[in-house]
Amino acid sequence: MTKSGAAGNAARDRYEAVIGLEVHAQLKTKTKIFCACSTSFGASANTQVCPLCLGLPGVLPVLNGRAVEFAVMTGLAVGATIHPRSVFARKNYFYPDLPKGYQISQYDRPLCEGGGVAIRTAEGPKVIGLVRIHLEEDAGKSLHPEGREGVSTTRVDLNRAGVPLIEIVSEPELRTGEEAYQYLTKLKQILIYLDVCDGNMEEGSLRCDANVSVRPRGQAEFGTKTEIKNLNSFRYVEKAIAYEIDRQIALLESGGRVVQETLLWDSARGVAETMRSKEEAHDYRYFPEPDLLPLDLDAAWIERLRASLPELPDALRARLVRAHGIPDYDAEVLTETRALAAYYEETAARSGHPKLASNWIMTEVNAVRNKIGGSIETFPIRADRLGDLVGMVAAGRVSGKIGKQLFEKMLTDPEGPEALVQKHGLLPIDDDAALRALAREVLAANPGPTAEFRAGKEKTFAYLVGQAMKQSRGRAHPEKLQAALRAVLAEESS
Ligand code: ADP
Ligand code: MG
Ligand code: ZN
Repeated sequence: MTKSGAAGNAARDRYEAVIGLEVHAQLKTKTKIFCACSTSFGASANTQVCPLCLGLPGVLPVLNGRAVEFAVMTGLAVGATIHPRSVFARKNYFYPDLPKGYQISQYDRPLCEGGGVAIRTAEGPKVIGLVRIHLEEDAGKSLHPEGREGVSTTRVDLNRAGVPLIEIVSEPELRTGEEAYQYLTKLKQILIYLDVCDGNMEEGSLRCDANVSVRPRGQAEFGTKTEIKNLNSFRYVEKAIAYEIDRQIALLESGGRVVQETLLWDSARGVAETMRSKEEAHDYRYFPEPDLLPLDLDAAWIERLRASLPELPDALRARLVRAHGIPDYDAEVLTETRALAAYYEETAARSGHPKLASNWIMTEVNAVRNKIGGSIETFPIRADRLGDLVGMVAAGRVSGKIGKQLFEKMLTDPEGPEALVQKHGLLPIDDDAALRALAREVLAANPGPTAEFRAGKEKTFAYLVGQAMKQSRGRAHPEKLQAALRAVLAEESS
């Protein structure tokens, strides 16, 4: 295998990459897709199992209606066609974490087809088409704990077996690792807005396989693709794709050809390595699942679901721009989650200054959130208090600088900004007599610069203003302070 980075820039420019993603999303149902076992994460191994999800003989699957509802909602949200009839199929393969020897999935008659996900790329907006969304059950999990004397062992946990998944397959319309990152971010956002998946990659609620090929620019046919598995963060997806594009280009440039194979991403080493070649590829021997009827959906039921869909990210973003007159960029940041958008709207309303409210959330609030982690729901400053603070800054009651000091205090002190201003003596100094007294004090303390200024060195004025501002701990009203300083300098030199 060639090393990454082997392809030169000139070679890179001659090729175009083609990427399609297969995303597995765990649906947020309480129970599994074909039995009543719990889907909750983190329980002791094999405590959430029953004869059905253990794959014992003589049991019959019963389809979870909630799982169907969530899958249809997802299809509707991305503009897919919802088929009134779809069919479950057995996908046969042997693996220790699959006790039945087959996975119940959908094959030639999936629940949803078509639709797309809108992303933003360097070249502007772009819609990534979807091939299909189908329902299936998850397999169990193989664990490889170290046994006695360092011998590696394999254990199987079947709590996850039978948990409902949707597989979302994109058209091969992504062109870069960055676009794949955008696509995944948007898809996850839609799933979370719909509240059908928690989007937690660490817990495996969202998993992604990437199919990658390259072709000379201008060529219509696709090149041979490889599939990368084991991508457990969006950044790894982006990295692995960039790595694989480079590897394939270098390979073609050196006269080789890409072999169709499955690769495993090793995030620690930053390389993708062969897991299996096409020769070892599975023949899944799909056939319709005889224990389940075709899934027939009522058209009126689908329409009711369509009508009850929550507001989705793009619509919410457009509404924030319209309702509050903020730039599209701000709205994009503020619609990261529905909760953040709600927090913004409350802050904006309370402060009466939508754009200033947006600035404070995008900079101050998000900076703290990035540092301490956590969602806006647990942020220590609630929207009412932030709104009051933003309102005070907007009205000139305190300067932006003092506002930031107040913000810091509010992170640990539950009082409102007005009370904190009183408590810490942070009231602005804008009284003319007080400002002149301050000016006199500062000039007396800085005889050198004062003399320089009087000798005609205008630049020294900024220094004196700075000293006075410092002396007031940032509380002096900037323009009035300057006026006071000039007035005092004028009266003393006359
Ligand atoms: P497979 O049968 O190997 O699973 P599919 O046709 O089902 O292949 O496609 C699986 C995924 O691979 C889809 O997301 C699709 O967009 C993508 N894909 C298909 N052909 C290519 C290609 N030549 N290069 C990159 N991605 C591809
Ligand atoms: Mg596939
Ligand atoms: Zn069960």
